[in-house]
Amino acid sequence: MAAIKVAEQEHPVPAFGWAARDQSGVLSPFDFSRRATGEKDVKFKVLYCGICHSDLHMIKNEWGIATYPLVPGHEIVGQVTEVGSQVTKFSPGDRVGVGCIAASCRSCDSCINDLENHCPKAIPIYSGHSSDGTVTYGGYSDVMVCDEHFVVRIPDALPLQSAAPLLCAGITVYSALRYYGLDRPGMNLAVVGLGGLGHVAVKFARAMGAQVTVISTSPAKKDDAIQNLGADSFLISRDQEEMKAAMGRFDGIVDTVSADHPLVPLIGLLKTNGKLVLVGAPTKPLELPAFPLLKGRKMVGGSGIGGMKETQEMLDFAGKHGIAAEVEVIPVEYVNKAMERLEKADVKYRFVIDVGNTLLKNA
Ligand code: NAP
Ligand code: ZN
Ligand code: ZN
Repeated sequence: MAAIKVAEQEHPVPAFGWAARDQSGVLSPFDFSRRATGEKDVKFKVLYCGICHSDLHMIKNEWGIATYPLVPGHEIVGQVTEVGSQVTKFSPGDRVGVGCIAASCRSCDSCINDLENHCPKAIPIYSGHSSDGTVTYGGYSDVMVCDEHFVVRIPDALPLQSAAPLLCAGITVYSALRYYGLDRPGMNLAVVGLGGLGHVAVKFARAMGAQVTVISTSPAKKDDAIQNLGADSFLISRDQEEMKAAMGRFDGIVDTVSADHPLVPLIGLLKTNGKLVLVGAPTKPLELPAFPLLKGRKMVGGSGIGGMKETQEMLDFAGKHGIAAEVEVIPVEYVNKAMERLEKADVKYRFVIDVGNTLLKNA
């Protein structure tokens, strides 16, 4: 029987990160290892990693799919240090990023159509299993080794720390807007939940030419949404009078809420043929009665991240339009506190870990 190797010995390249060990979700230093740079691999030094609410769902095993120890992080940016002999797109020194996907089959219908995110065999960047059976570990760590197909280039116009959240938050809302045809100038759109996803949704929708309303539970975010993020208006979802006055107003709504919340009031805000697109991933099933959809031929759909081609297209669009996340950069030692604050929607609007300067093994 083959001896079970500990994470530190599985591969030849020493790696260091922060991991959750159980459902408490508390993160602490963790030694593991990365594979040697293969022919098609890009190795890079991680400089920044965003904290997505999905990381919080995962470290606490709220979706029931966590494997511990779990090194989170799928909004990863850094600088290339080594490339394999068959790599064509990248060279040492390049500014690159990796998102939620470590690998996919490359041959199914989804993969052939540039939708690796929907490949049934896609391997998540953390808490998944690589083809050699080892567990994948994410970007709250010092080094990444990835197949170049799943690596994207960060445009020079974007600072790395504020580009990091585009690797998940950015592509998720960009792809939802594009696929559902909510990318046409002059549309009247709403974004529900002004967190990491929501605030970049406002920016992308504005850049595509929409009128954008934020629908929020946090009155304190109103001034910033309008003055700094460029939202045209702001509705408090718990204010029934305000919500009533907005009935039938929107062509589309992007719902980024991370927790249980009622959908019927949102459906009521749609015009005839309007679309409600769910990108938030609450743990409990949401209630969806048929009648509010029948009247007005309304649609409720979902969207999950995006394929690699579209992720690069989104980054290039962001570079051209100067779109990046509003970030609170933190040292890794702050990560557990940051998770507590994220749980309470107390961040404007994305925590990003300064991995390059603070995640140091012997500090
Ligand atoms: P986030 O930064 O925590 O933002 C979520 C926002 O939802 C909060 O800022 C808050 O906005 C609102 N909210 C929170 N609790 C609420 C409640 N009980 N009722 C109504 N509104 C509430 O999270 P995120 O990183 O943007 O992620 C949002 C969700 O998307 C998570 O579930 C995450 O797992 C999921 N996600 C999905 C994908 C995908 O591919 N589809 C990708 C990434 C993330 P206000 O203060 O404005 O109300
Ligand atoms: Zn994410
Ligand atoms: Zn596939």
